[in-house]
Amino acid sequence: MRKTLMIAAAATLAAAPLAAQEVNVYSYRQPELIAPLTDAFTEATGIEVNVAYLEKGMIERLQAEGRRTPADLVFTVDISRLAAIVDADLTQPAASDTLIANVPEQYRDPDNRWWGLTTRARIVYASKERVAEGEVTTYEDLADPKWKGRICTRSGTHAYNVALTSAILNYYGEDGAKDWLEGVKANLARKPQGNDRAQVKAIWAGECDIAIGYTYYMGKMLEDPEQAQWANSVNIVFPTFENAGTHVNISGVAMTKYAPNPENALKLMEYLTSPEAQEIYATANYEYPIAPGSKPDDLVASWGSFVADDVNLMTLAANRSAALKLIEIVDFDG
Ligand code: FE
Repeated sequence: MRKTLMIAAAATLAAAPLAAQEVNVYSYRQPELIAPLTDAFTEATGIEVNVAYLEKGMIERLQAEGRRTPADLVFTVDISRLAAIVDADLTQPAASDTLIANVPEQYRDPDNRWWGLTTRARIVYASKERVAEGEVTTYEDLADPKWKGRICTRSGTHAYNVALTSAILNYYGEDGAKDWLEGVKANLARKPQGNDRAQVKAIWAGECDIAIGYTYYMGKMLEDPEQAQWANSVNIVFPTFENAGTHVNISGVAMTKYAPNPENALKLMEYLTSPEAQEIYATANYEYPIAPGSKPDDLVASWGSFVADDVNLMTLAANRSAALKLIEIVDFDG
């Protein structure tokens, strides 16, 4: 009797079409960065990767879909965006020995809900003509009155600068962070405006001498005939916090709470954290791979080496709202 039942069950299974092996992704990162990786993964595993490229609304979409979501994984940049998805209870822990071996501790959630894949460093772009080597070496320096009227930056409330302020807050507390923000504000050559590249343009145009920006924009500017001259007017300086490292942020991945294909999703996460995949991903956007033994591409390496701050990025995410409040209290953009 039991045997018959088993045969019947097997027959039913055989009659049903084989479910395709697949994994589904919601990505805030662009197709040109993601497609080379997903193609290589499909080639190696036979697992199809379907990617929906979103510009906004990922959280709302996942909330609306609830348990019926097709999404297994989300790709995004900036710890604040990863943390927002985690805070909205839209992820689940996912871990393996491979992930742990490939992702250094400061770039992963202690509770395994997100994993970093690449980093970008928040650096100083310094005028080749007007800033001597060694003139700026720390983030604390940016608040020194010697820079009065010489600094350009994008809005203080932008996620990139909120993350940097969160790191200052981590080391100096509220009073110290407020002093730092006031000091930097007093040194600004103009009201915060534009994106990171616009600050380098302003150095090229002679409006300021140093600017705060992410490393990968150097590569992006060099790709563009008009912007290359802006890029060529500056040196890259990797500042550190006094007695600590250089501030970095990440691109990362998280598994959704109701992932329909969690095993395939974990395989894709493992592939993405592999040194080879990280190098492909990092090179496509002039970022840094983080797996032990992986290397940035030659152009990125030519900008110099640095020691990344070892604070866990979750600490910065936790400081985010306090940092934003301070930025508003000092009226940084005003
Ligand atoms: Fe950016």
